[in-house]
Amino acid sequence: MDIVLSGIRSTGRLHLGNYFGALRNFVKLQREAECFFFIADYHALTTHNDPGLLHENVRNVLSEYLAAGIDPDTATIYVQSDVPQIAELSLLLGMHAYVGELERTVSFKDKIRKNPDNVNAGLLTYPVLQAADILIHRATHVPVGKDQEQHLELTRVFARRFNNIYGVDYFPESRPYNFGAELVKIPGLDGTGKMGKSEGNGIYLTDPDEAIRKKVMRAVTDSGPTVPDSPVSEPVENIFTIMKAVSEPAAISFFREKYASCEIRYGDLKKQLAEDIIKAVAPIRERIEAIRADGAYLRRVVALGAEKARESAAKTIADVRGMMGIKPF
Ligand code: ATP
Ligand code: MG
Repeated sequence: MDIVLSGIRSTGRLHLGNYFGALRNFVKLQREAECFFFIADYHALTTHNDPGLLHENVRNVLSEYLAAGIDPDTATIYVQSDVPQIAELSLLLGMHAYVGELERTVSFKDKIRKNPDNVNAGLLTYPVLQAADILIHRATHVPVGKDQEQHLELTRVFARRFNNIYGVDYFPESRPYNFGAELVKIPGLDGTGKMGKSEGNGIYLTDPDEAIRKKVMRAVTDSGPTVPDSPVSEPVENIFTIMKAVSEPAAISFFREKYASCEIRYGDLKKQLAEDIIKAVAPIRERIEAIRADGAYLRRVVALGAEKARESAAKTIADVRGMMGIKPF
């Protein structure tokens, strides 16, 4: 049976990118394979280290997982820091990760450019910890968005290297997964780049209808096409990209044709997009607050998940220690 693993950093509320890039697929996969979904609080610390906020953020992501439809009795849902074997595997894999390859990671270069005052070692070794997250359960399928493609490539490099060095066929080739389709990249509505928790450009699963309408109506566009069949500019293409996730194909082709014939009205396009986003988000939003307020339920979910995740992780760590020559007396 396939083993599926994925996680989301506890750095803020979840947005459309997290949902269409990752969370929606978690829900679809949970009955098809053995699934592990975690809340990446160690990863959050590389950029978000406010002790007053971390726990609330973990609680938020947990509540949003559950509200989106992950069933804790079917899939294993856990908090990363509840499973110490992940940190140990990260340390062990780090012995065979080269500083040069870590420094060349696009996300590392991007993060140090944005935060030149906090170029911490955790940022550099982020892909090692991520490989440990995946390999601790020997996961084969990793449902993630397009932004994670390069990290997954590194996970495969580390897995292959480990297998070669120790002469084993132990770690699998973990692949990003989106049911055979291209990985998803939901753009921001600010004209360029991806939607991100840390970018301040999110449409969140918790946003009320009115907030969604406001954000969509403020989306960056351009002055409109004047020549038939002109190419679509990046900000307008971004609107179409989000529509692809939430709207009916007929609505998309209607506006594509209007664009091609220079009759498009961006106001109408945005209205359609806002209503389609609301249709996708509102049912999830309605469940989040009730789940978030139910402390006893959340405690039960986290305890159950930690137990299941530790059991799987302990087995891998025992194997890896043996392969590397760490042996009991
Ligand atoms: P941060 O800005 O704090 O890194 P994030 O929004 O990038 O937050 P992550 O926790 O890094 O979210 O990623 C969680 C999952 O959501 C990953 O699988 C990632 O690929 C996916 N994801 C994040 N942003 C997008 C996006 N804009 N489009 C598609 N998938 C996305
Ligand atoms: Mg991210």
